[in-house]
Amino acid sequence: MQMEGKSVFGGIAIGRLSVYHKRDSAVKRVKISDVEAEKKRFEDAKEEAKRQLGVFYEKALKEVGEVNAAIFETHQMMLDDLDYVESITNIIETQEVNAEFAVASTGDNFSQMFASMDDDYMKARAADVKDISNRVISILQGAGEGVMTGDEPVILLADDLAPSETVQLDKSKVLSFVTRHGSTNSHTAILARTMNIPALIGVDFPEDADGKLGIVDGYQGLFYLEPDEETLEKYRRKKDEDDQKKRLLLELKGKENVTLDGKKINLYANIGGVSDVANALANDAGGIGLFRSEFLYLESDDYPTEEAQFMAYKTVAENMAGKKVIIRTLDIGADKQVGYFGLEKEENPAMGYRAIRICLDRKDIFKTQLRALYRASYYGTISIMFPMIISVSEVKQIKEIAAEVRAELDADGIPYKDVELGIMIETPAAVMISDLLAKEVDFFSIGTNDLTQYTLAIDRQNPKLDNIYDSHHEAILRMLQMVVDNGHKEGCWVGICGELGADTSLTETFLRMGFDELSVSPSMILRVRDKIRNTDLSAK
Ligand code: PEP
Ligand code: MG
Repeated sequence: MQMEGKSVFGGIAIGRLSVYHKRDSAVKRVKISDVEAEKKRFEDAKEEAKRQLGVFYEKALKEVGEVNAAIFETHQMMLDDLDYVESITNIIETQEVNAEFAVASTGDNFSQMFASMDDDYMKARAADVKDISNRVISILQGAGEGVMTGDEPVILLADDLAPSETVQLDKSKVLSFVTRHGSTNSHTAILARTMNIPALIGVDFPEDADGKLGIVDGYQGLFYLEPDEETLEKYRRKKDEDDQKKRLLLELKGKENVTLDGKKINLYANIGGVSDVANALANDAGGIGLFRSEFLYLESDDYPTEEAQFMAYKTVAENMAGKKVIIRTLDIGADKQVGYFGLEKEENPAMGYRAIRICLDRKDIFKTQLRALYRASYYGTISIMFPMIISVSEVKQIKEIAAEVRAELDADGIPYKDVELGIMIETPAAVMISDLLAKEVDFFSIGTNDLTQYTLAIDRQNPKLDNIYDSHHEAILRMLQMVVDNGHKEGCWVGICGELGADTSLTETFLRMGFDELSVSPSMILRVRDKIRNTDLSAK
């Protein structure tokens, strides 16, 4: 059976299918006679759950950094929460029932209580209680730790995957993702891309696919369930060719990003956190062109402190060993909601109170981040970039605040370096006044994801519109040229950090337009390098 989907990342995967369900195990109520033994069963399962969470924490620490890993520590603490534990043991004692039932009832009660609260932060705790309770129940029922316990790597099928679930997956055991929902421009899709494996969204796979053989064609957006021998053979050959290409790409490591006729361009990596740095370096990134700092805020339960941010930025700067690291200041709002900010619900969040608008309004938050950034600048080569700019006056305000922060650091005797300041060009307004903006900053980086959304008036999150969300639109291409020209006239360097930067069908166009830099997912760096090295600009 062949099904169509939308590709998030190219490549071929062939393997067993595993349908991933958010854990929601059915629990029976069983009368027991030995209350003490049942309480002990619960205690043991709770300890085992904490041990598993400890393993998750260590794994997440390596892969996504401390801030993102912290959720697992929180879950460990919740398992020891006195009210929670007392409720479970009480149910076992008073009703003389099995531990599974006591945990399930307590989990349901607590999560309903959290869900009904007014505060967004507390609401989010509902999912956490459910999660930890389900973990204890699975242990009591003797189930494995998760979907990825088998030895054989699988193609993972899911309704949807949250960024946090993506992080938890064992990447050595996932050949590919296929989900029913999601949009190619969502942040989950961006995360999937950094994992460097073929992925499809919008595939309506049948529930009974579990355990069957499947093929994912991430190039054409096709999914095959129980393919016939002929198809299988075709894809085995394709995959061999692919693997060979991948080996070839690895040979490109250490080579320059230079065209056949000698034009050079910088190729940097987009990252979401400290843990992506290893991947950026493994793929030979010349620097970090976009560090989406909002992930530090998204994965945290409260405003990340200056110290926590400083440590994250410093680690990236140090690991990049003097190479340029461009850190974008907080870009929340729209599709990236953070409960503790207490943002109001908006009719039109993509055009609402977000990104730099919040920072200029809530100066305390902005100054904390800027202070952390300037302090970290001492340990490497940090540039700061500001999102969603629409006016010169915004940039002037930003520069004033940055100057205040520097003056405060001077007064405190804290060292920092010269930091390049740049802006993202991701609104049509910024494009049209790029001649004026160029006088104010050191560089421009074009955010084609949002620029396409705002220029074409197409919500990047709406999967129904994926087919007309066209970043190759002549309007966008003209804008790109305009920004390069206006930037260069004032001595600004100009790059692209939106997903379009990795589109190799446009690499030659970007080189001809005069771009100085392209910042792409780590996994795309060597592909783009290959394209650059095979381009001859003198040929036409
Ligand atoms: C963009 O808009 O192109 C961009 C790079 O930023 P984000 O995808 O994080 O909005
Ligand atoms: Mg953007």
